Amino acid sequence: MSRFSCCPTPGKDNQSIWILARFLDDIDDLRHLREQFLIPKVSQLPPSDPSLVDGAEECLYFVGNSLGLQPKLARQYLEEELEKWAQMGVHGHTEGSRPWAWAENNIEQLMANVVGAKRDEVALMNGLTVNLHLLLLSFYKPTTERHKILLEDKAFPSDHYAVESQISLRGFDPEKSMLLMSPREGEHTLRTKDILSMIEKEGDSIAVILFSGVQYYTGQLFDMAAITKAGQAKGCYVGFDCAHAAGNVDLRLHDWGVDFACWCSYKYVNSGAGGLAGAYIHERHAHTIKPALTGWWGHNLKTRFQMDNQMDLIPGIGGFRLSNQPILLVCPLQASLEVFNMTNMKALRRKSRLLTGYLEYLIKHYYTKHEAHPEKPYVDIITPSNPEERGCQLSLSFSVPIRAMFKELEKRGVACDMREPNVLRIAPTPLYNSFSDCHRLISTLGAALQASNELQQASNELSQ
Ligand SMILES: *Cc1c(COP(=O)(O)O)cnc(C)c1O
Repeated sequence: MSRFSCCPTPGKDNQSIWILARFLDDIDDLRHLREQFLIPKVSQLPPSDPSLVDGAEECLYFVGNSLGLQPKLARQYLEEELEKWAQMGVHGHTEGSRPWAWAENNIEQLMANVVGAKRDEVALMNGLTVNLHLLLLSFYKPTTERHKILLEDKAFPSDHYAVESQISLRGFDPEKSMLLMSPREGEHTLRTKDILSMIEKEGDSIAVILFSGVQYYTGQLFDMAAITKAGQAKGCYVGFDCAHAAGNVDLRLHDWGVDFACWCSYKYVNSGAGGLAGAYIHERHAHTIKPALTGWWGHNLKTRFQMDNQMDLIPGIGGFRLSNQPILLVCPLQASLEVFNMTNMKALRRKSRLLTGYLEYLIKHYYTKHEAHPEKPYVDIITPSNPEERGCQLSLSFSVPIRAMFKELEKRGVACDMREPNVLRIAPTPLYNSFSDCHRLISTLGAALQASNELQQASNELSQ
């Protein structure tokens, strides 16, 4: 078998990597965590084609960066609260192991551990974009000298819109106040050095620096410590959208001195679609940065229900809470955070580097562009190859049309996602993906490449 065959068949070479995958799974001391999750079978995924795959197998779930899998305990916790509601109605607010009136307080520490913060620096509330707005309302106070927000040129659309509308809300012009940073010509990702010199150059006019922790499209992990330090030295506030970083990389929000951060919990944190989001403000701002908008949930819990209309504001991020929290969203988040706390982010990250490195190695080994056979379909990885500059996700582009490639993978029981214009995102998550998953993906990738290539050739012939 040729090393560069686009479709490895089980030969000697492939056999040995299969043995390696099994061996890596055997020595993986976090492999038991997979059992805490419900993994769909191939036959349960709507796009699977039964003529191509064995439906009884577990699917290849590589899309934890978009929607994490369901923790097994989520259903039990939800049923407990539904039962409590059925049996005691309003008394559920104060009864049971999860009193609705402060249930989310019981899991703040678990969340804080995942993002490297202190418990009082974290609140669980709302959705991500809502939290981003609430934070910007307090941190973005533009003046004529200092009115800009620095962010990535291709930030996630919701972040782009949030920043744009915050600037307009303050009476400034997004055209002038939104400072968008693009990679150098011909490059996919930003160089830290370029980010730091942009901050050095423009810092005096920047009010807020808002980067993602991990970029959703390229998978690039930014040097949050360095960006924070450089930004603060210039008098800017520095915040991060950690949607793709929380539960993925080993965050140290507190130690890095990050001013504020927010994240959703349905991606790597597995809380289910639209789950309760997280927000963070560093403790040094606890008594100086106040919420622009307040509600009763920001009032000291001890006296909250005295209803005297004298605000006793919780210091820090706790005071930003507006409404009582939805218990039905607390349940699945608790289930997932308990799994994270069976280990820690340091250990998960150690496994993650191996897991993603292994997948990267296999992709490069089998599907790199072959100079001697340029007609063979190939795969490019746009995510940085330095493990310090990425989380678990690899963003792939292909020599064949991406849409066809995505369809062929889906037919074969792979759950991954495609992002316009030209990227397929593959996220081996350390919580529940295995080295064998990566190995299976590689042969599936070969079959899908072959099928898309044949489709492309057939359509070329037709059009000739
Ligand atoms: C997923 C994601 C969002 C989604 O925002 P919601 O308010 O949860 O719908 C926003 N920003 C980034 C960077 C994301 O990755």
